[in-house]
Amino acid sequence: MPRPRILFAVSLLLAAVAATPAIAQAPAAPKGPLPNIVVLATGGTIAGAAATDVQAGYSSGQVGVEQLLAAVPQAKKLANLRGEQISNIGSQDMNDEVWLKLARRINELTAMPDVAGVVITHGTDTIEETAYFLNLVVKSKKPVVLTASMRPSTALSADGPLNFYNAVAIAANKDAAGRGVLVVINDWIHGASSLTKTSTTAVQTFMSPLRGLIGTVAYGDAEFYRGPVGKNTVDSDFSLDKVTTLPRVDIIMAHENMDGALIDAAAAAGAKGIVIAGVGNGNMTEAALKALSAQAKKGIVCVRSSRVATGNVGRNVEVDDDKLGLVASLDLNPQKSRVLLRLALTRTTDLKQIQKWFVEY
Ligand code: ASP
Repeated sequence: MPRPRILFAVSLLLAAVAATPAIAQAPAAPKGPLPNIVVLATGGTIAGAAATDVQAGYSSGQVGVEQLLAAVPQAKKLANLRGEQISNIGSQDMNDEVWLKLARRINELTAMPDVAGVVITHGTDTIEETAYFLNLVVKSKKPVVLTASMRPSTALSADGPLNFYNAVAIAANKDAAGRGVLVVINDWIHGASSLTKTSTTAVQTFMSPLRGLIGTVAYGDAEFYRGPVGKNTVDSDFSLDKVTTLPRVDIIMAHENMDGALIDAAAAAGAKGIVIAGVGNGNMTEAALKALSAQAKKGIVCVRSSRVATGNVGRNVEVDDDKLGLVASLDLNPQKSRVLLRLALTRTTDLKQIQKWFVEY
């Protein structure tokens, strides 16, 4: 029979093993056959390269999808991966042609029974707009996960490889399904409607103010906190089925001493909608409001959003939206308001219906 001292030592050892999860934890490899995940590459810094590993200057979209996959062999333990190159551009050049191609391809892929999920590599500059656009037009509950990086692939401490690994882990994770389009970056899982870029250079740039994080992911191990806020994917009223072009919507930033010249210029350039990145609670000068309301009366749908980083733009708070014929963006920032308004305008110009969609999405 073992002596009490030996029993004590054994139990101490067992307790120590149980208390060191970082060492004892297994990697996030799923049980059973590996899921099939398709990687759609669009470019961005994650595919960027610089001449040396410690310089700020670099070019986005230099590395092809096969090189991206080869750079993170660890991800092949999480899923069977295959890649497709949709574009190879800095996301400052993101455009409707790529958006439509990307969205249609995701809808084709997610309709295939043997595809479990999709990862999209993208630049950080406009990832929040692409994610929100996809959130409104992808017709699948399967995980659709965007990822990016702030440092190019050649940089010291490049953040792309781990972001990519985590994105594959989330796309392969059954618990990620039905949470809308996701963005995985710097260990955080953001919802498409909530995330926004907050720093021009820091690796920790994306935040989800107001709506909060969907979850976190550490070396592939995920923790989910919430479902999606706002209608999305299979519940969305929007579809690209009959859409070949998207209507022009311009964003104009409000400021001290603003006049109506840019508002009138947007209308003259053919905008079907205008989003004002207002001061404070979606405010602007009397002169700008007068010009905006005049365009609204001519049939251009005008949305008041805010240049302030967080908070709601409420309807009829300081501005009489009912009288002036305007729409309030609520908690959508100007760039996401523009995405929703463009899709809304493919269906209607009815202000009541469009305001209702701003409530619902
Ligand atoms: N300009 C780059 C892009 O959006 C920045 C990045 O990816 O971090 O493509």
